[in-house]
Amino acid sequence: MGKPTGFLEFTRELPKKRDPQERIHDYKEIEVPFSEQDSQRQAARCMDCGTPFCHSGCPLGNIIPEFNDAVYEQNWAYAYEILSSTNNFPEFTGRICPAPCEASCVLGINKPPVAIEFIEKSIAEVAFAQGYVTPKPPKERTGKQIAVIGSGPAGLAAAAQLNKAGHTVTVFERADQIGGLLRYGIPDFKLEKWTIDRRLAVMEAEGITFKTGVNVGVDIKANALLDQFDLVMLTGGSTVPRDLPIPGRNLKGIYPAMEFLSQQNKRNASLPVEVDHQGAKYGDGELLATNKNVVVIGGGDTGSDCVGTSNRHGAASVTQIELMPMPPKDRAENTPWPNWPMMLRTSTSHEEGCDRHWSINTKEFIGDENGNLKAMRIVDLTWKNENGRMQMVELPGSERDIPCELALLAAGFLHPQHNGLLDDLGVEYDERGNVKATNYQSTVNPKVFAAGDMRRGQSLVVWAISEGREAARAADCYLMGETMLEAKAVSMIAVE
Ligand SMILES: Cc1cc2nc3c(=O)[nH]c(=O)nc-3n(C[C@H](O)[C@H](O)[C@H](O)COP(=O)(O)OP(=O)(O)OC[C@H]3O[C@@H](n4cnc5c(N)ncnc54)[C@H](O)[C@@H]3O)c2cc1C
Ligand code: SF4
Repeated sequence: MGKPTGFLEFTRELPKKRDPQERIHDYKEIEVPFSEQDSQRQAARCMDCGTPFCHSGCPLGNIIPEFNDAVYEQNWAYAYEILSSTNNFPEFTGRICPAPCEASCVLGINKPPVAIEFIEKSIAEVAFAQGYVTPKPPKERTGKQIAVIGSGPAGLAAAAQLNKAGHTVTVFERADQIGGLLRYGIPDFKLEKWTIDRRLAVMEAEGITFKTGVNVGVDIKANALLDQFDLVMLTGGSTVPRDLPIPGRNLKGIYPAMEFLSQQNKRNASLPVEVDHQGAKYGDGELLATNKNVVVIGGGDTGSDCVGTSNRHGAASVTQIELMPMPPKDRAENTPWPNWPMMLRTSTSHEEGCDRHWSINTKEFIGDENGNLKAMRIVDLTWKNENGRMQMVELPGSERDIPCELALLAAGFLHPQHNGLLDDLGVEYDERGNVKATNYQSTVNPKVFAAGDMRRGQSLVVWAISEGREAARAADCYLMGETMLEAKAVSMIAVE
């Protein structure tokens, strides 16, 4: 433990954010860098608890008290060694993880928790700046060929671990760039894309091959894949968006959030936006919120990313509506410490300007004579608890139309795309339509493994990395009969 009195002397501090009025004119990161001294002061607050709940709050089992101590001692090389032993990509989680570890920090019982996420980002950034992040190719190759399908955080983590175990790994990605939702989905103002390129350069130098623009199942058929590779790791994500099939859905001006967000990622990268991130041609060309009344349907993180992007486009107004009731401002009683708290969350995008409304249902999209969206018919709801099940009831007389020329559907994803590769491989699906696997191994073909959102359902980057690492361990065991890849400490606290 670095400083026994640190938690009494210092309070929680986070990096400063750029002024909303300034930052809505660009797509650069919102937080200004945390100095090494700021990180050291935060690390000094860690109490090195006998039972570190933060450690099990992290889906990766990050060894938080130990890296906090190393940061307090300003031993950044050792801090990175500890952090990278459980997390392949702390530069991503240090920026965009919702930090369930902090929700279970013991200091959080009666004081603000340790700023773990930002310490993690500092360790990663110091490590890259000081040259501690170097390619570490395996000393020997096993001769086994592995295909990883999908290059999101799950695929990248699996590839890194399987390569470390000595296997020869090829990552296939149907988009024109590697990164999955890190690249096309999560806005640049949350995660600038040079962070992905920097990591990919290390992975390539370690011997991993990346192939973009390859839609596996179409460009390489399932049978050919099974013939050519000793093992197939499916990490294709959860890509089928939840639609809103109500009257007027076919009007021009209603789009899934991902189409809107990934176009902006492409624009930022100076790439053509007329084809989507999956390589298909857009029906309606460029989607811009400029001068439009935008309504984002769905109150979650994807919706919040649409809010931030719409404000950057210069929307006339931005409204976000959600079916469920407004969560409590503080931790709900049914999610006590150290659980992930159910509570109202205000993102940096909300701070930039947005009308937020809860308990609202959308009944109809209304168009003009040219088939363009011009309004939405909405209604207020009350929620009744009937035998433990929440039932929504429309509030009589509350139906009204609100102006809207751009509606963004951000109500989540159903499951991975079944037709094509998955159906051709003959994989089984669980009750939610995700790939069914036992210990990450498909229930129908022992050569086929699955991880990330494709197996788990829509989740978080930290879970995708965890799944990729665990699936790689299971795959290595299957191929070699044993594994030298690190096992993770069991995470006890669930957060989606
Ligand atoms: C808008 C948005 C914002 C988010 N923000 C956050 C956040 O701030 N923090 C957080 O923790 N999580 C966030 N998430 C969730 C997080 O991004 C996902 O949980 C995570 O990326 C899942 O990783 P994955 O590797 O399983 O899949 P993905 O990242 O979805 O990657 C799957 C990849 O597989 C490719 N693929 C699929 N099928 C094929 C095929 N047949 N052939 C070749 N390639 C294929 C896809 O093109 C895709 O690139 C966000 C999600 C969205 C949509
Ligand atoms: S990955 Fe997320 S949960 Fe784990 S230590 Fe980092 S911020 Fe916390």
